[in-house]
Amino acid sequence: MGRFAPSPTGPLHAGSLLAALGSLLHARAQGGLWHLRIDDIDPPRAVQGSVAAIQASLEAHALRFDGDIQYQSDHSYRYAQALQRLEAQGDLFHCTCTRAMLGAAGNCQKSCAQKKFAASEATCLRVKVPLNTVITLEDAFLGPQNWHLGQQLSNFVVRRRDGLYAYQLAAAVDDAAPAATQVIRGRDLLDSTPRQIFLQRRLGLPSPEYGHLPVLTDQHGAKLSKQQGASAVNNHQPLHNLRTALKDLGQPDPPAKLKDPVSLLAWSQSKWDPLRVPR
Ligand code: GLU
Repeated sequence: MGRFAPSPTGPLHAGSLLAALGSLLHARAQGGLWHLRIDDIDPPRAVQGSVAAIQASLEAHALRFDGDIQYQSDHSYRYAQALQRLEAQGDLFHCTCTRAMLGAAGNCQKSCAQKKFAASEATCLRVKVPLNTVITLEDAFLGPQNWHLGQQLSNFVVRRRDGLYAYQLAAAVDDAAPAATQVIRGRDLLDSTPRQIFLQRRLGLPSPEYGHLPVLTDQHGAKLSKQQGASAVNNHQPLHNLRTALKDLGQPDPPAKLKDPVSLLAWSQSKWDPLRVPR
């Protein structure tokens, strides 16, 4: 079971279309379902109308998801339970460090873990990563990956100072099997994956299969992103957009006679080859 999990921070752009298409084809080629999850746990960054715009673009490209849309904002109870468990295991500590005080990896390097904070104090919650933590992964496209996570990152945020749940926690919980069995997304999230697997382990949750797709960049080499205002995909030229995305995914060019997105996708699904995805 695959999923596409955009944040509602703007319309679908060429880069997110690529992630949607890659995750759909990877799931469908194995006979799996494909879900749409809206990662709306960060209201300050949300842009009104994004969910409708994302849905309209998926529909225009015949990228049809199964079941109802899932919203992370409906899952707060799961994240609260996860934090309770981490807390009970002694995995968490409060931290008040400002950005300037953090280490290069965004880790707290002061003695916050030893400090007591008043309940009224605004703190973030961090999870401790034991020094000997090693995470290994067989990426669906990139092959074997491994991280000496404990050496790279001694701790990271699971609940933000403003009280919001951190992306790493929410994604780890929602992506744990059996809810998701495949997480196919852009390579810009590759360094989040060991953190999410680490959290799944601490929470006794099974990890899904992970695969990281190429990331599209603009003419200056910067990743296309909604926050940087990447332009929305043109819903009036779905065939062109899908053909371009298939090329970026290294997949064979569908025959010219296929003139509608549904048959184009059916053909591409039958030809989907993870080994052709550019590394
Ligand atoms: N919501 C995240 C984003 O739009 C991606 C989540 C994921 O695929 O894990 O960047």
